[in-house]
Amino acid sequence: MNSIDPPILDAGDTYTTCISRVKDAALKARLAAITNDVRTASADYVDKALENRLHEVPRIANVGGVTTAELKKVYTQHMAGKNAPGRVAYDEIFNSSAKCLLCTQRKVDALDHHLPKAHYPVLAVTPVNLIPACSACNKAKLASVPGTADDSALHPYFDRIQDDRWLHGLVVTGIPAVVRFRVQAPAHWATQLTNRVQLHFDGLNLGDLYSAEAAEELTSIRHQLTNIHRTEGMQAVREELLARFESAAAAQLNGWRAVTYESFAMSDWFCDGGFAPV
Ligand SMILES: [Zn+2]
Repeated sequence: MNSIDPPILDAGDTYTTCISRVKDAALKARLAAITNDVRTASADYVDKALENRLHEVPRIANVGGVTTAELKKVYTQHMAGKNAPGRVAYDEIFNSSAKCLLCTQRKVDALDHHLPKAHYPVLAVTPVNLIPACSACNKAKLASVPGTADDSALHPYFDRIQDDRWLHGLVVTGIPAVVRFRVQAPAHWATQLTNRVQLHFDGLNLGDLYSAEAAEELTSIRHQLTNIHRTEGMQAVREELLARFESAAAAQLNGWRAVTYESFAMSDWFCDGGFAPV
């Protein structure tokens, strides 16, 4: 996961913009009447998110005189729609990261409702609840609701884990070589954070995603490693891999690329020709 600052868009203003072009006057009046509920829910959300207490946010099906289905439509038709009045806010959040904040690998092609709109309709267009994500992560998280502080999904606006090293890997000898990824929490992490990171890693199948990327990376450098090994030997291969690790880690400490190169470099078998396809 990569963390970024929360959107600075105001929840009440965003909601007001979204409902500004609702044609049905009676519906528009009912929607406008709950603007304060939207503002209050957003402020409460931020307070709780800062303390990993989002599991305490109440699940309320209907807000004032507005149904869950009507609030879901405010998002789908009046915020996510191409020419919708809320599209400017949607695009601002969408464009706040090029890569999915959850897997950090695939491109952004959706906004993920951190607390799903089906269960928390009052948060359907609340900016701090909308996270730029890929469709695979969005789908994997679909409608998941936190039950306790221990199983609350990591939140890219409120949890920050990228400064600590937590992703590690190991080369599995075989043809071709494979990197297995795992979560290994630093010693100073609380058990609760470790559990949440493990759930994040498992729930989004990040191990498989990163192993596939590592396999492709190996394909792209195999020719170069073969040449280095033939002319300069095993230690030169290791030095090349360590240089690549350092550069990749400086860019993204827990990125699959940094961990891949470190795993390659740490394996004697790999450095001494294990990178070869046969
Ligand atoms: Zn993703």
